[in-house]
Amino acid sequence: MKIKLNKNILVYAVVVLLTFALSVSFFVIGAKNKTIKQNKTQITEITKQLDDAKNQIAEKEKQNGELNQKLEQAQTENGNLQKENNNLKTEIEKLNAEKLIEAEKLTALQNSPQSVYPPADKVCYLTFDDGPSDNTLKILDILDRFNAKATFFVIGSSGKLDYVKQIHERGHVVGLHSDSHKYNVIYSSTDAYFADLEAISNKVEQIIGIKSKIMRFPGGGSNGVSKKYCVGIMSRLTNQVKAKGYAYFDWNVSSGDAERNNVPAAQIVNNVLIQSANKNSICVLMHDSAAKGTTVEALPAMLDGLAKMGFRFEGLTESTYGYCHAVNN
Ligand SMILES: [Zn+2]
Repeated sequence: MKIKLNKNILVYAVVVLLTFALSVSFFVIGAKNKTIKQNKTQITEITKQLDDAKNQIAEKEKQNGELNQKLEQAQTENGNLQKENNNLKTEIEKLNAEKLIEAEKLTALQNSPQSVYPPADKVCYLTFDDGPSDNTLKILDILDRFNAKATFFVIGSSGKLDYVKQIHERGHVVGLHSDSHKYNVIYSSTDAYFADLEAISNKVEQIIGIKSKIMRFPGGGSNGVSKKYCVGIMSRLTNQVKAKGYAYFDWNVSSGDAERNNVPAAQIVNNVLIQSANKNSICVLMHDSAAKGTTVEALPAMLDGLAKMGFRFEGLTESTYGYCHAVNN
């Protein structure tokens, strides 16, 4: 009886114990489940926050990209505006330069006594550049034979500048060409040009006692060589010389004796007579430097031919029409 009672108590105790253990287990599992659920919620929450952050970053990157694009556009626009600005500045400078040239042209017109029309009658202006030389003396003799007057555009570097005394005394015109005749020097600036012109002017004045106002540009007013040394210089000089009271002369007949040395005399005669045939008045370009012997040889036949065409031979004056070429620089 006692053992049976004890057995029951034991069974009861086991049942109570098991029930307790089971309850504890349920409680623990419940608690764990609750924690897991809480963690899951947290993870979901964090994931959501992470996604939001990612979206925000993407949005910012997009905005950044748009801003970069706008910046590039603004930079391009700025570049274009600067370019336009530079173009306008260049245009203004060009217009100012043109305005200056126009003003100089006006002064030149007011100051220059030079005729703007060629003579209406048959007159021939023989001109000789780059002398004097010993050839000049031979030319003077030939001119005397034809009772012809001519113009000599002299250079200081000829070495025979003293011959201008004879040129002048025998009734011809001494014109100024250049002191050095070095294109790279005289056409480097208008100041350099006038320094050279003044030098030859002074030398001539010392010999013949008068200031010559008759001149010819080395290469002529139409020369393009000067562009190598100073862009636009001929546009300035052709006006400035007139504004300073000079009369400058180009030509409308070229003897062709400058193409090379020793151009045959017959060819020089031909060149001049063919070009003169259809003209009323002529200004003939020739050279009397030491190397131009065939020009001297050509003169008698040339003068004879021109006289037969009805031309008379005169020296240039400050009021003679300039036979000026279109300016190329
Ligand atoms: Zn010359």
